[in-house]
Amino acid sequence: LPMADSPKRVLVINAGSSSIKFCLYDMENEFPLTRGIVERIGLDDPRLSYTIKDATSATEPVAVKDHRDALRVIAQHIDRPELSPPAGHRAVDAVGHRVVHGGEKFSQPVLIDEDVKRAIREYFPLAPLHNPVNYRGIEACQELFPDVPHAAVFDTAFHQTIPPEAYTYAMPVELCERHRIRKYGFHGTSHRYVTLEAARILKTSLDQLNLITCHLGNGCSITAVRSGKSVDTSIGFTPLEGLVMGTRSGDIDPAIVLFLMRHEKMTVDDVDELLNKKSGLLALSGSTNDMRDILEAASSGDTRAALAVEVFVHRARKYVGAFAAGLGRLDALIFTAGIGENSSPIREAVCAELEILGIQLDSERNQANETFVNTDSSSVKVMVIPTDEEVMIARDTLSVIENS
Ligand code: ADP
Repeated sequence: LPMADSPKRVLVINAGSSSIKFCLYDMENEFPLTRGIVERIGLDDPRLSYTIKDATSATEPVAVKDHRDALRVIAQHIDRPELSPPAGHRAVDAVGHRVVHGGEKFSQPVLIDEDVKRAIREYFPLAPLHNPVNYRGIEACQELFPDVPHAAVFDTAFHQTIPPEAYTYAMPVELCERHRIRKYGFHGTSHRYVTLEAARILKTSLDQLNLITCHLGNGCSITAVRSGKSVDTSIGFTPLEGLVMGTRSGDIDPAIVLFLMRHEKMTVDDVDELLNKKSGLLALSGSTNDMRDILEAASSGDTRAALAVEVFVHRARKYVGAFAAGLGRLDALIFTAGIGENSSPIREAVCAELEILGIQLDSERNQANETFVNTDSSSVKVMVIPTDEEVMIARDTLSVIENS
């Protein structure tokens, strides 16, 4: 079929280790025609859950043993009669892939060609849990949709504007260069999306906007945005640095690793698992990494849960303060992702001691999850902006195609 004036339907693919999320947009109005997830890939009882046109939803068992099968299931799902495109149009005009690590090479989304695929492979050692599955998703998707353009949107791209003094670790330069050890930052698509949203809502041009954006979900990071660009972020070389997360420790004294290896005889893999999978809120609470449950336990007198919340909040506030100091002028503090969007007690606790920065929260607006949750006299706006990484990837995919 001839390509329509501009691609109308963009399929967004976010491939994880045992799941693939997808969303098919009609880009005429950015409407999600269908979205869903194939879960438990390679495990028992894999299943497909989806909603169609934000109305019907269902979960079905599917026969899926690998990512290729899962993408085939997604392609079949998109082929349902209720999703069929208008006559003369294709079911999918372009595919946008979330790719976690773009190293120093990609500061923008790109059209995927052999060079781009080679670069994604090159970064396997930098993101061993993510890039290989993202790559497999791309390869399988290119087989299923061979005639449409595929774009890669990198989680690290937004942070490529971070200057050397913020991305360099104080370690031997030659060693860092050899292994490309530096701060990269993650959640870039989310930080960029809320930055653009803030500019739109505040009716300010991007280059006039200084922000601190708090992405508080299962993974958490805080970014300093100067003139619309990322200039520092809490996550580092890997997603382990920075804030307390669901199961990740965030910042610790690196000597703790050495101490544990010496005194607990832990191996590299033991420490890796400890800090990435068995720490954070999960370790502090002793039972769960779900902030809702932890807040509930804390309010019914569980002192361990209460401390978990306090450690989480203390760390977040510390980063807000540090980044505010570096920005000079702060226009707005933004909260997003699962915890940031939904948890008024966490927002209130983070902002409680930040009056020194001109940040004043309005309790009622905050409890109502309004877009602006600051008082009228607060010199810094405090905003709750729901993130939407999928639509950002879809927009990026369109713009890459239109500019290529
Ligand atoms: P992911 O990083 O996996 O995309 P999310 O952005 O969905 O995660 O965030 C998940 C986190 O958000 C969980 O800790 C969950 O408990 C928390 N969360 C969601 N809703 C609320 C709420 N109403 N109050 C507190 N925490 C919430």
